[in-house]
Amino acid sequence: MNEKVFRDPVHNYIHVNNQVIYDLINSKEFQRLRRIKQVPTTVFTFHGAEHSRFSHCLGVYEIARRVTEIFDAKYSDIWNPDESLLTMVAALLHDIGHGAYSHTFERLFETDHEAYTRDIITSPETEINAILVKVAPDFPEKVASVINHTYPNKQVVQLISSQIDCDRMDYLLRDSYYTAAHYGQFDLTRILRVIRPVENGIAFSRNGMHAVEDYIVSRFQMYMQVYFHPASRAMEVLLQNLLKRAKLLFKTQPEFFEKYSPHLLPFFKNDFALADYLALDDGVMNTYFQSWMTSEDDILADLASRFINRKVFKSVTFDQASEKELHHLIDRVAAVGFDPDYYTGIHINFDLPYDVYRPDVHNPRTQIEIIQKDGSLAELSTLSPIVTALTGSNYGDRRLYFPKEMLQVDDLFTADKEIFLSYISNEHFEYNK
Ligand code: ZN
Repeated sequence: MNEKVFRDPVHNYIHVNNQVIYDLINSKEFQRLRRIKQVPTTVFTFHGAEHSRFSHCLGVYEIARRVTEIFDAKYSDIWNPDESLLTMVAALLHDIGHGAYSHTFERLFETDHEAYTRDIITSPETEINAILVKVAPDFPEKVASVINHTYPNKQVVQLISSQIDCDRMDYLLRDSYYTAAHYGQFDLTRILRVIRPVENGIAFSRNGMHAVEDYIVSRFQMYMQVYFHPASRAMEVLLQNLLKRAKLLFKTQPEFFEKYSPHLLPFFKNDFALADYLALDDGVMNTYFQSWMTSEDDILADLASRFINRKVFKSVTFDQASEKELHHLIDRVAAVGFDPDYYTGIHINFDLPYDVYRPDVHNPRTQIEIIQKDGSLAELSTLSPIVTALTGSNYGDRRLYFPKEMLQVDDLFTADKEIFLSYISNEHFEYNK
């Protein structure tokens, strides 16, 4: 086919030279990703971050295309060029099962975006599957196995999923660009010059060590400054409580939801198929939230209004020691008149920026290897003191969320609020505005 190009603010041009890739992009399941935000609650804090899963998936594909192009040209002694199409397709489709407000939705309705990714690729009812079976009858299964890490060729698996893969490289650059938080930038061009296929995976040549180090630091800073931002997490807590209220009310007031949120009924009834899942997107959900603002149920209407109008909950951090004191705070929220089931929430975020391979842990990580002068491999943290500092430790915090009204001097101000305020300023908790 004639090359098609997509303009992209992160990679400038995304090149498509293969009809299979072009057809996949034009499938309805892939086009759906245009209607799903990449970071749906982060956008409440960083307003530029309106970008979609569609743009991220194209970006991951483009990085995979550039890597496999280099591997095909320079390393065909150790890299099998027959794997290139599979790698690019897996890169393009790795997030195809993501839905509207994925992570919150999953927790409430027990859906699983990874299982949907597999279904969309392997189920005969999708356009994506029809395109993939034309490549080879077993091709859909191969693509799904790369994405769930069971494909035998570790080079392919590590390009899609490891501590330095095409997915992470794209989302760091993309989220950094759209949030305008520059921490996430690193030298992708340099990394593409030093990435190599090796016997059992992927490694980096020694002269690119600092580019890889910079990528690890960028990733750490993006988690701390952007992904774990307290206000974005407040919106996640609010959304979770809103959906929880809707799910409960459906049992007694099904007519309201039949009228105002028909596409959610299969999930409220816990009887849903792939097609039901694919019918949801951010626009559908946001429209429902707006209509819930008219509900006669005060809690549903109020939570929906807080979500639509970005009235964020406030929070305090706590630790394992102060966790047992939390009930004092929650009791005061209840005493002021807020149902704590819907007006408080705990949000815990921790990330391990980098780790070495630890065979004894559950899901051990593939460590990043640097090729030495003599051809042997050395693990990254043995060479980089900066990476050593970030290796093996979790960073993040635990937060209790509550309504902003708990901090305001207003009509609701009673002894309970006073006690609440004295609690959050004691040594057990940390409140910062
Ligand atoms: Zn991704």
